[in-house]
Amino acid sequence: MLEETYQSLVKRDPDQPEFHQAVREVLESLESVLDKHPEYRSARIVERIIEPERVIIFRVPWVDDSGEVRVNRGFRIEANSAIGPYKGGLRFHPSVNLGILKFLAFEQIFKNALTGIPMGGGKGGSDFDPKGKSDAEVMRFCQSFMMELFRYIGPTTDVPAGDIGVGGREIGYLFGTWKKLRNQWGGVLTGKGLAYGGSLIRPEATGYGAVYFAQEMLKTRGENLEDKVCLVSGSGNVAQFAAQKINQLGGRVVTLSDSSGCIYDPEGIDHQKLQWVMELKNVRRGRIKEYADKFTGATYQEWDAFNPPTDHNPLWDHKADCAFPSATQNEINARDARNLIKNGVYLVSEGANMPTVPEGIEIFLDEKILYGPGKAANAGGVATSGLEMAQNAIFSSWSREEVDQRLHQIMVNIHAQAHAASEKYGAKGNYVLGANAAGFLKVAEAMMAQGVV
Ligand code: NDP
Repeated sequence: MLEETYQSLVKRDPDQPEFHQAVREVLESLESVLDKHPEYRSARIVERIIEPERVIIFRVPWVDDSGEVRVNRGFRIEANSAIGPYKGGLRFHPSVNLGILKFLAFEQIFKNALTGIPMGGGKGGSDFDPKGKSDAEVMRFCQSFMMELFRYIGPTTDVPAGDIGVGGREIGYLFGTWKKLRNQWGGVLTGKGLAYGGSLIRPEATGYGAVYFAQEMLKTRGENLEDKVCLVSGSGNVAQFAAQKINQLGGRVVTLSDSSGCIYDPEGIDHQKLQWVMELKNVRRGRIKEYADKFTGATYQEWDAFNPPTDHNPLWDHKADCAFPSATQNEINARDARNLIKNGVYLVSEGANMPTVPEGIEIFLDEKILYGPGKAANAGGVATSGLEMAQNAIFSSWSREEVDQRLHQIMVNIHAQAHAASEKYGAKGNYVLGANAAGFLKVAEAMMAQGVV
């Protein structure tokens, strides 16, 4: 039955492989859940959840610094609003297309349900590439993007955030435009600057959360992160703060990457080196390659921009204990997964969304390593966005300690829910099944209560 549902989805949208991949993974987890809840089958909950409530596609024209008119495509996928306003990031990257954003919006439905905060699922973005653009170009692009998007979003309707290529700078320009168009101040975007309604800890939240989730997984084996050698991919928002938290907890981070290549520093990317990376990526907007020029003992390996190695990714081929993929989707293929195991890695906590291909996930599950799928492990980002929305709604702001404590507790709860659901449905310690089942059940219950809408 679920196979039939899956096949009809593939037939309907054949050119969306990432969306198929994300749906397949969830459907494979749901057989035993639906056996216990036949009412969800007859109400066609699965068929309804895989069809977004609304898809908006729009033109984004803008003028570059040389006076040329450029045209990009903008998207917003409003996937599911059963438990709260649509919530999910905006991605600006040349690889962005409808299938990728549908996969991200679909994942977001379950992830948001796991946080325990009332947020539905959404995602959006554009094939615009902020890399190499001036601030003025980025501002004009963001203004044009929001001139269309503003019709569809609002603090209780749809609340976008950042994702790849959308950080504090972009959120600022997007918020400024929304406010001008609406003549209203409201918590319509999260990831805002502290000066205008942002939350402390929001920039740190996804990376910190992935490490808190790892800590919880390690606890089930009576271990912690002290002295663990960790592979981290990416060098953006998630990677930077995952690395920072690993350092704080006594681990040693030995890799980072960007879309051009990866670095390996066996001595560890300590606090000082990480500060340098943050300045490189966030202020100078440079390339990770420069790390190997700056720090002796570190090596750099290049790969094709936007075409990470299909054969294998050298970043995953070092001796280590833990891995925190924090760059992008499908960055661990089957060979990488085998390399990780061969090199001693027994914990993978996904900061990125869907960084592991299905064959890789199977290898992790067969090997019974501690494997935290992105849906659970990286939910700290959206959870803290939820905390930002709460602070905006009451015109207040909480201290760093308070937000961090709430984030930590949310990650502990997500781990506990996923673990309990994995046990209930006969696969103890399988966090893929546990996270999918626990997230699905919350959304399904809400959809049942609200009728066929
Ligand atoms: P950033 O844009 O800050 O960083 C992304 C990093 O990944 C950069 O180092 C980038 O390199 C690299 N990268 C991007 N695309 C590719 C590619 N095709 N191949 C190799 N490297 C690539 O984004 P975030 O850190 O915010 O996001 C990283 C991941 O985490 C994404 O999967 C995102 O969906 C996920 N995530 C983010 C959340 C958040 O709160 N920001 C929340 C939950 C999940 P370069 O510098 O060259 O662009």
